[in-house]
Amino acid sequence: MKKYQELTKEIEDKFPNRWDEQTRLLHLFEEAGELSDILAMYLKKKKGETSKEKIQAEMCGILFDLLTLANMLDIDLEVAYNKELENFKKYINL
Ligand SMILES: [Mg+2]
Repeated sequence: MKKYQELTKEIEDKFPNRWDEQTRLLHLFEEAGELSDILAMYLKKKKGETSKEKIQAEMCGILFDLLTLANMLDIDLEVAYNKELENFKKYINL
């Protein structure tokens, strides 16, 4: 997988954002709903109607929207991830 900075730069360069933050967030929710539908079908073993590749595609849709929203808000998710991971470790006493 590409490093976080490479990924965010690629998204910024190749896919110029034309939406405001609220619209991007709504689209993220839409993608999450699509993942929910696909995953529910997959878990019910309706594999003729879905596949792991479709789950993967929906997860990437969420990642794309999340990274774009983070870019718009000037949030470095790598920094945020490391910080929250430390908080989580304290929470579960690791
Ligand atoms: Mg989708």
